[in-house]
Amino acid sequence: MAYRAPVPEIAFLLEHVVGYDAVAATDRFAEATPDMVQAVLAEAGKLCDEVMAPLNRAGDLRGAVLENGVVRTSPGFAEGYRAIAEGGWVAVAAPPEHGGMGLPMAVATAINDMMSGACLALQLNPLLTQGQIDALDHHASDDLKALYLPKLISGAWSGTMNLTEPQAGSDVGALSTRAEPRGDGTYAITGQKIYISWGDADFVENVCHLVLARLPDGAPGTKGISLFLVPKYLPDAAGNPGIANDLKVLSLEHKMGLHGSPTCVMSFEGATGWLVGAPHDGMRAMFTMMNNARLGVGAEGIGVAEAAYQHALAYAQERRQGRTTEGTIIGHADVRRMLARMRAEIHAARSIALACGVALDMARATGAADWAARAAFLTPIAKAFGTETGSAVAETGVQVFGGMGFIEESGAAQFYRDVRVTAIYEGTNGIQAMDLVGRKLMDHGEAAGRLLDEIEACAEDARASLPDLAEAVWQAAETLRETTDTLLRLPVADRYGVAVPYLRATARVLGAHFHLRAALADPEGAHGRLARFYITRMLPEHGALLAEVRAGDAPLMALSVADLAV
Ligand SMILES: Cc1cc2nc3c(=O)[nH]c(=O)nc-3n(C[C@H](O)[C@H](O)[C@H](O)COP(=O)(O)OP(=O)(O)OC[C@H]3O[C@@H](n4cnc5c(N)ncnc54)[C@H](O)[C@@H]3O)c2cc1C
Repeated sequence: MAYRAPVPEIAFLLEHVVGYDAVAATDRFAEATPDMVQAVLAEAGKLCDEVMAPLNRAGDLRGAVLENGVVRTSPGFAEGYRAIAEGGWVAVAAPPEHGGMGLPMAVATAINDMMSGACLALQLNPLLTQGQIDALDHHASDDLKALYLPKLISGAWSGTMNLTEPQAGSDVGALSTRAEPRGDGTYAITGQKIYISWGDADFVENVCHLVLARLPDGAPGTKGISLFLVPKYLPDAAGNPGIANDLKVLSLEHKMGLHGSPTCVMSFEGATGWLVGAPHDGMRAMFTMMNNARLGVGAEGIGVAEAAYQHALAYAQERRQGRTTEGTIIGHADVRRMLARMRAEIHAARSIALACGVALDMARATGAADWAARAAFLTPIAKAFGTETGSAVAETGVQVFGGMGFIEESGAAQFYRDVRVTAIYEGTNGIQAMDLVGRKLMDHGEAAGRLLDEIEACAEDARASLPDLAEAVWQAAETLRETTDTLLRLPVADRYGVAVPYLRATARVLGAHFHLRAALADPEGAHGRLARFYITRMLPEHGALLAEVRAGDAPLMALSVADLAV
């Protein structure tokens, strides 16, 4: 079955579940009315269904290749990218003064979700450009903004993000790429970067690399890192791509999936770059890009989960095996359990990501610190839970197909192979969980507490109509609150060993809240029944996860390296 972008479902979540009306009520986003957003989503959905989804298989079977130093992209990707760019979909949230649509992040997140479901490998290209636009908009000089932003926003040029080096992965501070000032306002960038997504493409006029490097007087570690904009072609006086810069793609990685997205080893050989932001302040500037990209990567996981779900659902309605009332395997209780779990998990993860988008929009529109703290708290959860949902749902999709799931031609395995990296890149999910229990609880748990207050207030309101579901959600929120208080009493270093179960438990409780809100809006419909399934069958997992958190890291750290050795 062909992928269908879930426009009505996303519109339902924006309207009834994640409070998008508050965004539309602000002056900044007054034009992004629910009706306008629905029309935008419908248009984007058409692009996903008709242009991008048909490219997904070709991207897997005939991945990008390096030919004479130039990346040749998969069949149809150039036309697909052109359609994305011509429709204005590269960066819908980009600033209008540079040619963007200025739409809310909640809407951009929904579009990233749909585009990822259609073709993850191609969607990763504009996602990186979006992050670069955000970083330049916040930190670059006016001259750089005037030259680069219109080109990036129109899609004529694309953006990449160059952090990783062989010895500097999660520990970005270990990087060794150097930047030498030339005395004319430019810098000579020298070093090697690995795993650079879309480090080159044959369908854009220029590729703009944001590169982390160290100035000669940069201190060791993250404090001495600066950020540079390093284009493949140096812009000429008219702002068009001029002579080639001193950089090249050395090779492409051979990956388990995402073959349509070229993952490049990049060599910068005294390449000309321009400083973005203040010297030695590169991490702050790069974090603008990474925070944006983290939510985007969470949306990638959710999009692929949706595609894997639709694919498995269609198969379950066709495949005959054993006797069922429906005539196909969807009638078997266990197949129905798998599909229900997939659908319920997508609802939870998508709501968390959209709620994170709403919080970012409210922070931008109102300047209120509470909204910024909400967005910061939700970002690692949206990234890690969105991508875990991608892997878990795609894995279950393979199971629904039975033996055919293991056979490549069914297409079920591609979703799993493609989405697996989303839990790794943009900061591994382990690092996201450490961010949640560390930096995101530095406010003594105030942002978490306010969110729990809202969840409990919603559950109180729901007691009249859905008493059993409301009580379960209220209790879960209370247990999470108590465990958060326990965690807050520990030194940060002692929280890391239980960070992942804490993040998963928080996502479970948030998911229950968003299911409850959906059930309140649609008590007799599918959302009400899905909420009952999630709250009675999946929410209880939060209890086990929080028990793991309360057990603390002592039992884990008592296991020595020698104990783990075989
Ligand atoms: C397909 C693909 C595309 C990518 N695209 C880009 C890109 O466009 N630009 C870019 O710059 N990079 C990119 N990356 C790199 C990616 O961001 C890194 O792979 C990721 O950050 C992890 O770094 P690493 O691979 O060195 O793993 P490591 O850092 O070696 O991590 C190995 C394991 O140790 C854990 N770990 C490491 N440090 C800690 C710690 N302090 N505390 C707890 N656990 C820790 C990790 O969670 C992981 O489980 C890409 C990678 C892939 C595979």
